[in-house]
Amino acid sequence: MKRTGIDRESTGALKSVARSSPNVDQGYHLMELPTKILIGQGVLAKLGDFMEESSGSKKVVIAAGANVAAKVKEAVDSALKNERTWVEVQAADTKNVESVIRAGADSGCIVGVGGGKSVDVGKLAAFKMRLPFYSVPTSASHDGIASPFASLKGLDRPYSIMAKPPVGILADIDVIASAPRRLLASGCGDLVSKLTAVNDWQLAHRVTGEYYGGYSASLALMSADVVLGRSRMIGKFGLESVRDLVEALISTGVAAGIAGSSRPCSGSEHLFSHYLDLVAPDSGLHGEKCGIGTIMMSKLQGIDWRRVRSALKNVGAPVEASQLGVDDSMVVESLVKASSIRPERYTILSRKKLNSRTAKTLAKSTGVI
Ligand SMILES: [Zn+2]
Repeated sequence: MKRTGIDRESTGALKSVARSSPNVDQGYHLMELPTKILIGQGVLAKLGDFMEESSGSKKVVIAAGANVAAKVKEAVDSALKNERTWVEVQAADTKNVESVIRAGADSGCIVGVGGGKSVDVGKLAAFKMRLPFYSVPTSASHDGIASPFASLKGLDRPYSIMAKPPVGILADIDVIASAPRRLLASGCGDLVSKLTAVNDWQLAHRVTGEYYGGYSASLALMSADVVLGRSRMIGKFGLESVRDLVEALISTGVAAGIAGSSRPCSGSEHLFSHYLDLVAPDSGLHGEKCGIGTIMMSKLQGIDWRRVRSALKNVGAPVEASQLGVDDSMVVESLVKASSIRPERYTILSRKKLNSRTAKTLAKSTGVI
C-alpha cells in the first residue's frame, strides 16, 4: 500500500497512543465520549452559539467537500462569529489531513462539515493537532459522525484508526434529510452491521477471553434494531425517521467510546468491506458494503440473514454485489482473505476459515452473487 510522510508520523503517533492508553487486557480501559450534541431542525443556524463556549475567539478551520460547501457555506458563515478558514476536502486521505493541519496552525478548533470524508479528515487533523473537533454531518451515511475512529486512505492499515471522538456534534435534521437517499440508505447498512459485529465480539470473548462489554454491545444492538425493527418506516426517510437514524448512528459511536474499541461497531462484515476497498476501490459506499457483508456474516453466524436482507431492501440499500459494480470473484476473494488484514481481531471468519468454494457457496446462497 502507498505510504506518505504522514503515514510514518501517524503510525508513530498511534504507537505512542497505544503505549499510553489503558489496556483492556489489564482489566481497565478509557472511555472517551462527545461532550455535547445538538440535534433538530434548523440547528445549523446555532453553530456559533454551540461552539462558542470552548472555541473562544481563535480562528475556526472548516473542512468540507466542494458540494457540501456549496450547499451550506452561507448558512455556516452566517452562524459563526469567529474568523474562519474553509479547507476543501477532496478525499478521505492523509494528503487532505495535511491540508487541514496546515490551515489550522493558529486555530482554536477544527470543524468537519459533510458526510464521511470531511468528518474523518477533520477528526484526524484535530487529533494530531490536539485541538477540539466538532462534527457537523450533512448526511447520515456511516457512524463516524460521533465515533472516536477515522477511516482514511494512505495510512498503513486499511481499516479505521483510533483518534478522539468529536467534542461536539451538531446534526441539523433539515440538512441531513435533504441528503441523497443513497447516503441515508448507506447509513442503514452501517447500522445493521452492529448485529454481526456484536456476535463476533461475543464469539471472541468466548474463544480468546477478550474483554466484552455487555452494555456497549446492547447499545449497538439497539441502534441496529432501529433499522431491523422498522425498516419500512425508516426507508421513507421522513424527518422523524432521519432523526432516529442519526441518533442511532451517534449512539453507535458512543458505544465504541464506552467499549474503548470499535468492537461493538465493527466485526467480520467490516473486515469484508475493508478488503473489498482494496480489491475494488471506489465501488460503493462504506455502509453499502458493510450491509452486504452483514447478510453473509449473519448466515455464517447462524442467525436470521433473511431479516437483514429484507431490511436493507426496504430502505433501498444494495443487497447484491452487482449493485456496487463488484464482480463475483472480488466478493469471493474478499470473503476468503478478509480476516488476514486484521488477524488479531477474532471473528466468525477466523473460526470458519472460508476457501474459494465455501465462500462462493455462501455468497450465492444469500443472493449476494
Ligand atoms: Zn462502519
